[in-house]
Amino acid sequence: MKKTFFWILALPIVFIACTTNAVTGRKQLSLLPESQLQETAVTEYRTFLSQSKVVSSSTNKDAEMVQRVGSRIANAITKYYQGKADVLNGYKWEFNLVDNKEVNAWCMPGGKVVVYTGLLPIAQNEAALAIVLGHEITHAVANHGNERMSQMMVTQGIGAVGDVLTSGNSKVNSIFNGVFGPGSQIGYTLPNSRKQEYEADHLGLIFAAMAGYNPREAIPFWQRMSAAGGANKPPEFLATHPSDENRIARLQGYMNEALKYYKPVK
Ligand SMILES: [Zn+2]
Repeated sequence: MKKTFFWILALPIVFIACTTNAVTGRKQLSLLPESQLQETAVTEYRTFLSQSKVVSSSTNKDAEMVQRVGSRIANAITKYYQGKADVLNGYKWEFNLVDNKEVNAWCMPGGKVVVYTGLLPIAQNEAALAIVLGHEITHAVANHGNERMSQMMVTQGIGAVGDVLTSGNSKVNSIFNGVFGPGSQIGYTLPNSRKQEYEADHLGLIFAAMAGYNPREAIPFWQRMSAAGGANKPPEFLATHPSDENRIARLQGYMNEALKYYKPVK
């Protein structure tokens, strides 16, 4: 009874909010305006940085590398979407390395990126870091977070469209933190997350190649990630980014296309 009522309420919202995404080319549920997501992301990003040990890029080579790789990827994406400027509307890129043992990296809406020092020993080289950043940034520009949040809002019966995020709706804000917050694992269980993962792998590989990094590095990198996970307790990053044989096979399938974009940096 309750369920039927829920679907009567939810269906019209789904109908209105399903738009074709310019990056992925598929219909995605987007209940939240991108501008609101970006606004909330800036606040959350500042809070996160103020509570973290940010490594200074003027004194540390790793932090400098994160900024260098990040801006190259950002330039590649800007080039890729030239003429489709709205994809990157409101983007103000920032790349920060934080001193934290977790194996993690993420990009919030609007281009707010964090890499954890714990990722670097597994990345091992600049190209692998580019693969990670290409992947994470694709999640952001493809509005994957919006899609996940929207799905969760529908599941939880929150149908409001409008300023539901910035008006301080605590339920919606906790969904935001679940999707974008550090170490979030919620998206992992949603049916779309595998599709999102492949989209991020596919486009991320192209962006890394355009940025001058060898896309072939993706294969050994994900193998290292897989090995680092161990049998019982995977690192946070692995929990939201399942690394399996299918992924490696898919990556190999994207490789020829990505290599067409690849021009090594000097
Ligand atoms: Zn991912």
